[in-house]
Amino acid sequence: MQHLKDKVAVITGGNSGIGKATARLFAQEGAQVLITGRRQNVVDQVVDEIGNGVIGVVGDVADLEHHQRLAEIVKRRFGSLDIYMANAGIINLTASRTVTPENYDRHFATNTRGVFFGVQAMEPLIRDGGNIIVTSSLAATKVLPDHTIYAGSKAAIAAFAKNWAIEFKPRKIRVNILSPGPVDTAILGKLGVSDADRPALERHLATIIPAGRLGQPEELARAALFLASEAGSFVNGVELHVDGGMTLA
Ligand code: NAD
Repeated sequence: MQHLKDKVAVITGGNSGIGKATARLFAQEGAQVLITGRRQNVVDQVVDEIGNGVIGVVGDVADLEHHQRLAEIVKRRFGSLDIYMANAGIINLTASRTVTPENYDRHFATNTRGVFFGVQAMEPLIRDGGNIIVTSSLAATKVLPDHTIYAGSKAAIAAFAKNWAIEFKPRKIRVNILSPGPVDTAILGKLGVSDADRPALERHLATIIPAGRLGQPEELARAALFLASEAGSFVNGVELHVDGGMTLA
């Protein structure tokens, strides 16, 4: 049985990591999937790799016109959509003392404003009974070294999502928060750790994650499928921690 048969899903940052694994799974589950990413060649490559009718659109979520263009494309191509996953995000860790205004603005333009205006553009197109997932982070809940700016940008979208869960009640649109712990994706390469030090970082993380290992993007994709499908039909305004127990560690 396909759990998203005939559904239309839009996934920002669907050309890499968690977004890509989710796009693949949603397409296998029968959804028509549109992914976005910043680089044409990467988006094209992932569209080819996933197949299953997935389509790709290039754009920067920090650019507000991108969301308007995307809404037009969705309207023309599908008429409406069922699932919007605001997943694109960046991280650039640094102690608060060394945060530059540029770094601050980039985090909030991508991780926060990009989510807010993406939902603002897409919500009118979501069918009644559809749903929205925002990808936040463990860092929104748990204090981690040098994560202050990133944590703030992700905590804000968790707060947006809870408000939207109530605000969109008349349209029966569920809004949930997917909150990953450390997951083995390209973003881990942006933590300022060299390739040579990566195994040591992974060993360290494994010692503090109760599961004893990093998460895999496919494990986040399965959680997103739960939230997006009938399996999660009574789940609304929830922050789903998919982190091997690290929130509690
Ligand atoms: P990733 O780097 O593989 O994917 C990030 C995606 O976001 C990429 O497709 C990238 O192109 C896209 N993106 C970034 N900035 C963009 C912009 N301005 N416009 C459009 N697209 C943009 O990393 P990932 O781990 O798959 O990250 C997915 C989400 O999960 C992010 O929001 C991230 O903050 C969050 N997250 C990841 C982890 C982890 O450990 N991997 C932990 C907590 C939260």
